[in-house]
Amino acid sequence: MNEFVETLLDLPWQVGDPKPVYDVVIIGGGGHGLATAYYLATRHGITNVCVLDANFIGSGNSGRNTTIIRSNYGIPESVHFYQRSLEMYQQLEDETGCWIMHTTKGQIWTAHSVMTARTEQTRALMNAACGAKTDYIGPDEIKRLCPQMDITGGGRYPVHGASYHHEGATARHDRVVWAYAQGALRHGAHVFQHTPVTGLTRGADGRVTGVVTPKGNIAAGTVISAVGGHVSTVAGWADVRLPIRTHALQAFVTNAYAQEFAPIVSSNDLVFYVSQTPRGQMLIGAEYDRFASYRQTTTFSYLQACSKKAVTMFPFLGKLRILRSWTGICDVSTDFSPILGPTTTDGFWLSTGWGTWGFKAIPAAGSQLAQLLATGSAPLIEPFGLDRFAREAAMADPSSAGTR
Ligand SMILES: Cc1cc2nc3c(=O)[nH]c(=O)nc-3n(C[C@H](O)[C@H](O)[C@H](O)COP(=O)(O)OP(=O)(O)OC[C@H]3O[C@@H](n4cnc5c(N)ncnc54)[C@H](O)[C@@H]3O)c2cc1C
Repeated sequence: MNEFVETLLDLPWQVGDPKPVYDVVIIGGGGHGLATAYYLATRHGITNVCVLDANFIGSGNSGRNTTIIRSNYGIPESVHFYQRSLEMYQQLEDETGCWIMHTTKGQIWTAHSVMTARTEQTRALMNAACGAKTDYIGPDEIKRLCPQMDITGGGRYPVHGASYHHEGATARHDRVVWAYAQGALRHGAHVFQHTPVTGLTRGADGRVTGVVTPKGNIAAGTVISAVGGHVSTVAGWADVRLPIRTHALQAFVTNAYAQEFAPIVSSNDLVFYVSQTPRGQMLIGAEYDRFASYRQTTTFSYLQACSKKAVTMFPFLGKLRILRSWTGICDVSTDFSPILGPTTTDGFWLSTGWGTWGFKAIPAAGSQLAQLLATGSAPLIEPFGLDRFAREAAMADPSSAGTR
């Protein structure tokens, strides 16, 4: 598949401006906004829905991520939720008729100390108990699955073992966005690109009644914010203060590596991860920048530090060149779990807190949020409501990060 073929995708855009009134207006045409529209239309017959994006669909983190899909999380509620999403991804090509380039690769999560090996053993047991196929494996098995790995870790970071998540996968990120956009559009939802929401309209009782755009005000029964790293601004318009800070996350690819690199590998101690794209490039990422920021530039210090770690474990990477780097701004919640559903302001809902881990969640989150809106009940995301912070029931999950 090349860029030319991608332009032939059949996306039946609306002609003209948005209608003055919708049942649901979703701010943000990333994976989460579009999946919610798709499931509202296809599962619940709610088609009077409009998705508005300030830029083009997938221009946020949904088109910038490193595409890892996994469910080996740190708390049972998360494992159940992400396992549902992982299984929905496995069916997404059949469901939508779109080729999203889904590939099950398996994910190796290495431990370089006795302490981390215990952490990975615990993770494997807990994951398996919650339905995510994961085993603890030793160095020989790791070497068999990933011959390129230097098991001595450059002599300094020896690999003691790893948790192996059998169903870890990747899918082409923008194809996922397009698949949901196409499905939503075909079922009657409206999607408008280059239509920024610049404010919210409020009733006398404070209820959010719609959105303000350069194309005029649009009234809505419910407004859902799915704006990634811009959520604090949008929630502020509704007088909702969130336990979220926006941080930049960087990633980069090398030129093509001629051999196959089969699995996804994450290192718990070195804090980085690597996989191979369908084009053969090596895709490398690590943790988000520590300071809160909306900056979307790449830093030399990040590329340098990340490359050093990667070459330590995979010496062949030293012969490749960094081809391209990019950055996204991430809505990182204080407990590293998503925030989904209604807020303290009537008429205003959220799909946020997706931080550096939300691509894998798109199918489950979209379908559950649509179900919650349509029926008032969605058990899988019940633990992830905003009210959990007031109830002191935070869902602290350090395994959200791609490296821990
Ligand atoms: C480098 C990087 C690597 C990552 N790797 C992974 C990974 O391997 N696996 C994983 O699961 N997750 C990963 N993530 C996280 C994942 O990409 C995000 O959590 C996910 O894409 C969030 O989707 P979203 O739909 O909520 O937001 P986005 O995709 O960011 O979409 C938000 C949209 O809202 C629009 N918008 C913003 N403000 C307004 C406004 N006022 N009016 C209208 N529209 C507006 C934007 O234009 C944007 O299109 C990674 C992220 C980055 C940056």
